[in-house]
Amino acid sequence: MELKFLGKGGAFDNETNSSAYIANGDGILFIDMGENVFEKAKEVLQKLHPSTVIGVAITHTHSDHIGSLGTFILFCHYVLKKKVYLFTGSEDQLKHVKALLHIFGVDKSMYEESKHYFNGLHVRFVKTTHVDDFDCFGILLYRDSKFMTYYSGDSNSIPTVVQQELLQGNIKKFYQDITLADYPGNVHYNLDKFVNDFPAGAIEKTEVYFYHNTVFDPTKEVDLSNMKLQSSSVTVLTRENVSDVLKTVFDKVNLSANNIVEVSEVENGLELKHVSGIKRIIKFGDKIMINQVGRFIFF
Ligand SMILES: [Zn+2]
Ligand SMILES: [Zn+2]
Repeated sequence: MELKFLGKGGAFDNETNSSAYIANGDGILFIDMGENVFEKAKEVLQKLHPSTVIGVAITHTHSDHIGSLGTFILFCHYVLKKKVYLFTGSEDQLKHVKALLHIFGVDKSMYEESKHYFNGLHVRFVKTTHVDDFDCFGILLYRDSKFMTYYSGDSNSIPTVVQQELLQGNIKKFYQDITLADYPGNVHYNLDKFVNDFPAGAIEKTEVYFYHNTVFDPTKEVDLSNMKLQSSSVTVLTRENVSDVLKTVFDKVNLSANNIVEVSEVENGLELKHVSGIKRIIKFGDKIMINQVGRFIFF
């Protein structure tokens, strides 16, 4: 189950705040509704079939994740004449969200407190570490426990239960808040830490997407020194034969094209073949390509 994103930015990015949604039969479940997300959400809402059931799950209450929730519910009530199914991860979080909605002028009758299931979809909140001020959650979504989707929310760690599901290959789509920043007390998840914790091949059944912290250090050279060629019969990619997109990528990361083997462009990005032991990260402006066993995804 692939998430569609309304935005992938953090609180101070030019891009829309991180928020996603998943269509599930005749239901649509949004994840987070940050302060500049509503316009994008409205475009989606206005295209829905009148019978569509609408849900929102909240990862945590930073305003870049919940800032326009009030407007969202009011719109569903007054314009779409619909109640919103509201998913929260704990009683404490629910209390905070309700208090905020009350202040925003949202009456309790406009939403329904919900847990565990949305239209047959499991909505499983997993506590994460981000800030100490309030509860923060990642969310596992699945109809079948062998085909899970994980959305981290803001988190500087991957919860143990999620790591287990990941290593068992049950998580097919993995969306993680990431940052290149590395400092004591970092509230987001550091990229190098991810690379160390999940070496290439460890989670080969998972497509990994990074989001939220789109401000990367453009001067930092990506270390691809561990890259090894698996086969001698390879097409060597050079600056002359790569596409414009790839050229931009290579320029951004100051990458030596001679170390890359066959590359093909796929819908979401690139597929690299005959590569093993790859260091796995290539930056592309505010997007990232990541790989497990040679599969890269633009995001
Ligand atoms: Zn955030
Ligand atoms: Zn946050």
